[in-house]
Amino acid sequence: MPKTTLTDGSPVTSDHRELKPNGQQKGYVVLSDDERAKGFVRPVRNAYKHLVCGVVTTMGDSLAETYARDPFFYSGTFCVGCGKHFPVGENGEFVWSGTDEKVGT
Ligand SMILES: [Zn+2]
Repeated sequence: MPKTTLTDGSPVTSDHRELKPNGQQKGYVVLSDDERAKGFVRPVRNAYKHLVCGVVTTMGDSLAETYARDPFFYSGTFCVGCGKHFPVGENGEFVWSGTDEKVGT
C-alpha cells in the first residue's frame, strides 16, 4: 500500500471522516509527499465542476497531486455548492473545470 497522510502531511486519524458543520470532512487522506514525488499520470488540476449544480470547487495542491498521481484514489469528492460529497469516476458527477473529462478517470 502506498503511504498516505492527511492533506497537511500529518498522520491519518481514525476520525478524519467525521463531518464539520459545513459538510466537509475533518480531514482528507492524500498520498504522502514521497509517493506524489514519484510522478503524475494526469495533469495537476485544482478545480472541478459538479455536473448536477454547475458549481466549481477548488482544492489544495496535495489533493490535486494525489488525483494526478492516482486518478482512482478517491471514490467521491466534495461540492461546495451542495455542501455534500458525491461519487467520482466514469459514472460520477464531476468533471475537471473547463473540460469534459470526468474526475476519477
Ligand atoms: Zn453541487
